[in-house]
Amino acid sequence: MNRILFEAAERFNLSTSSAEDDIYERVWKWEDDPENQLKKCQSDEAYTVSPFLGIWNGEAFVYTQKSASLGIWDFAKLLWRYGTAPLRANRLTKEVINRFLRLYEDPLFPWVSLTDAVRVVGLDTVTTKTAESLFKQRGMWGEFAREIVQASTRVNYAQHLSAIHSLESLVCLATEGAMAVRGGNWQMFDAMIHEATRDVRLNTSVTAVEYNSDGLYSVASTSPHSSDIEHFDDVIIATPLQFSGIDINSPSARLPDTIPYVQLHVTLFSTPRALSPSAFNLSGSESVPTFVLTTLQPDEDPGDDLEYGAGKAGFFSISVVKKGRNPHSLPPGRPERIYKIFSDKRVDDAFLARILGVEEPSSESCERDENEDPHRFCGLDENDVSWIHRKVWHSYPFELPRVTFEELRLGESLWYTSGIESFISTMETSALAGKNIAKLVVNEWVKSPETEKTEL
Ligand SMILES: Cc1cc2nc3c(=O)[nH]c(=O)nc-3n(C[C@H](O)[C@H](O)[C@H](O)COP(=O)(O)OP(=O)(O)OC[C@H]3O[C@@H](n4cnc5c(N)ncnc54)[C@H](O)[C@@H]3O)c2cc1C
Repeated sequence: MNRILFEAAERFNLSTSSAEDDIYERVWKWEDDPENQLKKCQSDEAYTVSPFLGIWNGEAFVYTQKSASLGIWDFAKLLWRYGTAPLRANRLTKEVINRFLRLYEDPLFPWVSLTDAVRVVGLDTVTTKTAESLFKQRGMWGEFAREIVQASTRVNYAQHLSAIHSLESLVCLATEGAMAVRGGNWQMFDAMIHEATRDVRLNTSVTAVEYNSDGLYSVASTSPHSSDIEHFDDVIIATPLQFSGIDINSPSARLPDTIPYVQLHVTLFSTPRALSPSAFNLSGSESVPTFVLTTLQPDEDPGDDLEYGAGKAGFFSISVVKKGRNPHSLPPGRPERIYKIFSDKRVDDAFLARILGVEEPSSESCERDENEDPHRFCGLDENDVSWIHRKVWHSYPFELPRVTFEELRLGESLWYTSGIESFISTMETSALAGKNIAKLVVNEWVKSPETEKTEL
């Protein structure tokens, strides 16, 4: 479904890899040893022994998979455990994606109202109900939904089937053909913006947008060394307005509602250790999967409680994002893994100690306030955790069932892309919203009285 991103990668000659190859390159290939990659990869215990993926519910792994793509044995296991539910969910996902793709094409594109466009393509039937009610309605509610689909909505959106709308839950299953740009997806957007303009202003914040009687907008901005006010015909706000710090003064504009967003804690850390089997109730001879997704236990029901968080599992996912050698270790070059944790709370040292199977630091050495350096950890030994970085994101809206979506046009020549994040929150859909608005703006310029006069 990543049509715009796929085209951008091609257009800007960015080298891409399938999601599977990307994982191989980042996780299993040793960067410093190109001659010997395959040999090392094959002897790497993560490749040969650990399952690739496991779904943990806080007590046990309810599902494991040997490799990134579904091999014949994994596929057979999936069908054995879940019956035909995976196949039916796959069919439903394809049907929904086909409807979604109509938003890119004539006669719908460009759409003036996302609400209307969603209705025309028939996706309102899935945005207006929770995933749980859709799966129940289609007779697909059961372990497949609760374990596999829910693990997927948790890792992608930190949300549960009881509250997330069913379209977003199906988007989580649409992983076919997933790809990544080598070196980072950011390069696509960097190339797009540099192609569009030479006037890229980093570290500059827009602080106010004001509609003037001459029909232009004054846009106030500030950067570390200056403040500015400039005038524009059209203004496109391409970030969730509620977090932007932009003050909008346009009497006729209808501003988007403030909506609840997920606060996602992302923690990256480097360690020479593997995850401890005992922290995951495995025997000492078993290895923890490279990707640990999580789900709820059968007796957990978050309902529509947006504060429920990760529940008994304690986090949404832990994955190895890279392996390499630490140039700062003693002696230099110690093999280490960089892990990424998605959680609803700050990952503290006690949690890290538990999953790494090392001694918990004493609580006195770990007192801290919320504004502390995100790179700091206190009681853990540098031989257990050599580096850490924490960041809290307003990552996505809570994707609650909706009948209507924010208007693209907030007022005369004032546009807003981020309403689409309540429909489907992805890089692709936000790019689609941007492309759609760009086309609407151009269409208006082309048919404006001034242009008509010039043309005459
Ligand atoms: C941890 C995490 C993981 C994710 N994983 C995925 C994924 O795997 N796949 C996927 O498709 N999507 C993923 N997403 C969602 C994806 O990042 C968003 O859907 C996408 O970034 C939205 O794009 P955008 O351009 O609308 O907004 P953003 O990417 O948020 O860009 C908005 C920009 O506006 C800037 N800005 C804000 N206020 C101002 C101001 N006042 N003045 C000037 N600039 C301002 C911000 O600094 C930011 O650079 C993830 C999000 C998070 C947080």
